[in-house]
Amino acid sequence: MNYCAKCLIPDTKPYTVFNDKGVCSACVSHEQKQQKTGGINWQIREQEFDKIVKEAKDKKAPYYDCLVPVSGGKDSITQVHRLLKHGVRILAVNVDYGIKTEVGISNLNLIAERMGAALTIYKPEQTLHKQLIKIGFEQFGDPDLLSHTLLHAYPLHTALAYKIPLVVLGENSAFEYGGDTEIANSNSITREWFSKYAANGGRDALFVSRTYGIDYEKLRLYDFPDDLKGSGTKTIFSSYYFFWNSEEHLEIAKSYGFKTLESSREGTYRNYVGIDEKINRIHQYMKVLKFGYGRATDHACEDIRNGRLTRHEAAKLVKLYDTQELSGYYIDDFCAYLQYSKEEFYSILERYRNLSIWKRGRNGVWHLPANDKKFGIQADDCPTEVK
Ligand SMILES: [Zn+2]
Repeated sequence: MNYCAKCLIPDTKPYTVFNDKGVCSACVSHEQKQQKTGGINWQIREQEFDKIVKEAKDKKAPYYDCLVPVSGGKDSITQVHRLLKHGVRILAVNVDYGIKTEVGISNLNLIAERMGAALTIYKPEQTLHKQLIKIGFEQFGDPDLLSHTLLHAYPLHTALAYKIPLVVLGENSAFEYGGDTEIANSNSITREWFSKYAANGGRDALFVSRTYGIDYEKLRLYDFPDDLKGSGTKTIFSSYYFFWNSEEHLEIAKSYGFKTLESSREGTYRNYVGIDEKINRIHQYMKVLKFGYGRATDHACEDIRNGRLTRHEAAKLVKLYDTQELSGYYIDDFCAYLQYSKEEFYSILERYRNLSIWKRGRNGVWHLPANDKKFGIQADDCPTEVK
């Protein structure tokens, strides 16, 4: 595994492009975001955002002016927050695709209870949905595969059905986290973006329908609505108009009563990310098995770019948290939800361990040699506890 010269993104990460200096596309995007050094002018972008929201309001749509897809996390609360000063009618749409946590439900409810937006929660038909989670988990090593397409597609279908003129999306992951440079600078969602970033390289509803014989009519809401183009509904990525900053979003969310965990969430050192739902932890763990990096790497890279951690400090955190074992808190509910025995669960997990990056020690324990050698971090160089 090779790593970005600036952050800790490995070359195993799908769609990541490195320039001739060995810098990943996410770090290059970050440079472009720096207004002080001639990058994006965020005041102008915010004015553009204000204009788009005003245009949506002026359309006098029948039910709502804006739709915001929400998980109940800090980012989606921030999306709603940024619309409030415009006095628009907001419909927040949540897709309940997995196993929600108590703190997740409590944070999600803030949107309707304290933010002046309407909230709709969509729970898909469970027999079909569980079948789709199993296909993702067993065949592609990603239990969130079709949940992910649903949570992107369903709000778009809702906007079309209600004739809502504006959908305010979160971040363009191609831009923020390093991806295809051609679609990184887009400010709206397209089928091409959806196919790559929501449907993990084209494993979309149509593909699943053809491969597994599920009637496509049942999967329509899992698929990108092609009639979006040419409709009266516009979509925008917030990260195109506002500098994407997790810490700032957390402060905004807290001002409405957003709760975090008392200690860091398993698999990372942050206590406020991915706390609303449980299956995503399995998804993140499988990323570690397949690509040799996990959620702590994602967070550490963001903190390096924003100057909150040095590369060395970040590497220690990655080594400490990325490969944390899955605990019963996640496994037990996942197995009960999908009716797997623990043996079945672990045998499926192990199918996805990438043996070109994982090695088994003489004691039988798996480890990532790259984690020991990279960045000059020694095993005893890691703190046992992180504040
Ligand atoms: Zn980088």
